[in-house]
Amino acid sequence: MEPDLIIRCFSNPHFGTLMDVGIRDGKIIYLQEHLPGNPNALSAGQLIEANGRVLLPGLIEPHIHLDKAFLLNLMTKDAFSIEQAIASTLELKHSFTSTDIETRSIQVIQQAIANGVTHMRCHVEIDPIVGLIGFEVMLALKERYFNQITLQIVAFPQEGIAKQPGTEELLIQALQLGADVVGGITYQDADLQAHLSTVFNLAKTFNKSIDLHVDFSDDPSMLAILSIIRMTHAYEMQGRVSVGHLTSLGSLPYEEAQVICTAIAEAGIHVMSLPATDLYLNGRGDDHRHRRGLTPVPLLLEQGANVIYGSNNIQNPFTPFGTADPLDTGMLLAHTTYMGSKQDVVTLIEMATTRAAKALELENYGLYIGADADLVLFESTNLRSAFYERVPRRYVWKRGQLVASTVKQTTFYNEQVSS
Ligand SMILES: [Zn+2]
Repeated sequence: MEPDLIIRCFSNPHFGTLMDVGIRDGKIIYLQEHLPGNPNALSAGQLIEANGRVLLPGLIEPHIHLDKAFLLNLMTKDAFSIEQAIASTLELKHSFTSTDIETRSIQVIQQAIANGVTHMRCHVEIDPIVGLIGFEVMLALKERYFNQITLQIVAFPQEGIAKQPGTEELLIQALQLGADVVGGITYQDADLQAHLSTVFNLAKTFNKSIDLHVDFSDDPSMLAILSIIRMTHAYEMQGRVSVGHLTSLGSLPYEEAQVICTAIAEAGIHVMSLPATDLYLNGRGDDHRHRRGLTPVPLLLEQGANVIYGSNNIQNPFTPFGTADPLDTGMLLAHTTYMGSKQDVVTLIEMATTRAAKALELENYGLYIGADADLVLFESTNLRSAFYERVPRRYVWKRGQLVASTVKQTTFYNEQVSS
């Protein structure tokens, strides 16, 4: 069978040699060592010469809030804590409209596609204030962008469930309408156990995975994760639960944190570090030796947990930064978790690709025969350079179709070097 597209002579950290990949009808149909004059290349519909550049499966953004992205210009004052960020967003939420949410979401989606993102899990606020407006926008965008990016939608009760009566009914409606994941938040409702029971029961009823905002604090006594570990086992949901933030774990003494990290790994709970927000909002109460307020990424990895990273927010009260490039987030994490070795880069790349795919329970994802041809070709032949310099994503393909290409062009003037 002849491929529609061949990408010839690419490099990838998981192959010890330069490789060729052939694609037909959106799937990878062959993958083999690059040999000059490969006969398949001659019959391909389209041939891309990678010339040794890095090819990865599409990048994954596993935790983002599209509905509250790009709010900076709407804020009446800056936010300096998690409480202020929640309050500020709540205030703005009253004026959210479908058009406004759609415009801001599309801005992020397009940036992400240009950055090589082929899959994105977005948390959408569901509560009596905004109702299902954001959710309905996201459902429409999921369908509209189906050929460019895969969106997973988390039904997310940002304001709590018990705290905002009517929220549980709205979550049920969202799940009936097609939400992919049940969301939750451990630091809004007074009764943690009741909140978690609602979330786990909904997940069981609708056979969905769970993605919780958890222990977003630098207070080591905030350990909702212990209840989540217990319930993951009790509900037999090992491998189907993700937790974002989990930063209070980073303030625990090493031995205590180690025990919990092991239990997280045993429960198959995926941990999503959200460093842009966590670094920005945590540690603010420290007047010296400021804690970074991150989840203990190296320790979790050592204990065998699946740890990945997400943007969380793009330019809003929680995080006034962000470019929708997962590798920007990865770089931030690399700096702040001492992950600078050659092997660390491979791990950090896995965290934005195959490890994230595991958390999002993606099927047919990766670089193997039979997988969807969701691919990104970097403008570099060296993995570390590709990562550290966040080089342009030369081509991005979704199911074998080109969805974005970026060329960086710099012109130098007055180049004469005096001697
Ligand atoms: Zn979040």
